[in-house]
Amino acid sequence: MGKYLKTVAVAVAVLLVCVLMAYYMKDVNKSATKGIFAMDTYMEITAYGRDSEEAVEAAAREIQRLDELLSTGLEKSEVSGLNQNKTGTLSADTEYLFLRSMELWRETEGAFDITIYPVMRAWGFDTQVFRVPAEAELQTLSTRVDASGLVYNEEDGTLTLPEGVEIDFGGIAKGYTSSRIARIMREYNIRSAKLNLGGNVQLVGARPDKSAWRIGIKSPDGTLPYLGVLSVKDKAVVTSGGYERYFEEEGVIYHHILDPKTGRPAQSGLVSVTIVSADGTLADGLSTALFVMGKDKAIAFWRENRGQFDMILLDTENRLYVTEGIAADFTAEGSMTVEIIR
Ligand code: ADP
Ligand code: MG
Repeated sequence: MGKYLKTVAVAVAVLLVCVLMAYYMKDVNKSATKGIFAMDTYMEITAYGRDSEEAVEAAAREIQRLDELLSTGLEKSEVSGLNQNKTGTLSADTEYLFLRSMELWRETEGAFDITIYPVMRAWGFDTQVFRVPAEAELQTLSTRVDASGLVYNEEDGTLTLPEGVEIDFGGIAKGYTSSRIARIMREYNIRSAKLNLGGNVQLVGARPDKSAWRIGIKSPDGTLPYLGVLSVKDKAVVTSGGYERYFEEEGVIYHHILDPKTGRPAQSGLVSVTIVSADGTLADGLSTALFVMGKDKAIAFWRENRGQFDMILLDTENRLYVTEGIAADFTAEGSMTVEIIR
């Protein structure tokens, strides 16, 4: 009798372990995806892991929160308040973005400048009611584009804008948002996630099977599906191009990445700039700034800061330039010529 009971007990125990293991495995392989429209673009968050559902919900809330804080299009946002009142106390997120933006402004010699907003408005990029401003208007507006006029008091956290100056974090906000979400993913113990914030891709870890993610770098004119494919883990991959947001008037294309010096869409000979970096905020800011700076300055900038990022440039001659840190991980579309930058 005792022996019989023991056998049953062992069998039950084995069964229990099996059921628990199956349950555990099922949970580990769980994934969740959520689409969100925010910051003027479509975003998609995919997470793998036991708490993936909770993690993507938390990500969506964070996107909503940052959108309401940073959107120039929302009258009640913190940024709109600063633009209307010309002064205000910065919240932690806005302070971080402001300080990073100023750092980029200095390092790119003004190619990245958050005071570009009045010029963005003059072209109608805020309302989508587009127009081509007269040269005189642009000259007047360009004199106001100058981040050096922004006064930040670190003691009490207030930012003061000169009369006529308005700011916009549009060139950096999505990258910051993606790095915030990557952090949230880790808080939820998610080891594998892909965040696509309208072309700003942020990867958390590797794919669930531990292999690298394969990210297609978008082709601007649509004749090719992709310029190439990048194998990458745990990094942000951000592309800026004049083809993302533009309007056409009398056969001329006017896009939304402006040269602060001229107030006009940057014409630097580059068609697109992809930045690969562990720092999503940096990747976003640099994708905009290096697009304005053009190929030669972008390459010089990379040589001075090569530890911080890698890049893929496409010029108007349809040539690709890939920095050596990612050259082995990038497979260009067959018809493209590629030069490796060292
Ligand atoms: P997207 O928002 O399409 O992904 P970008 O990251 O290149 O593209 O950001 C473009 C946005 O950055 C514009 O919509 C505008 O808000 C802002 N911007 C445009 N030109 C500049 C500039 N020279 N410096 C800083 N921000 C800029
Ligand atoms: Mg950008």
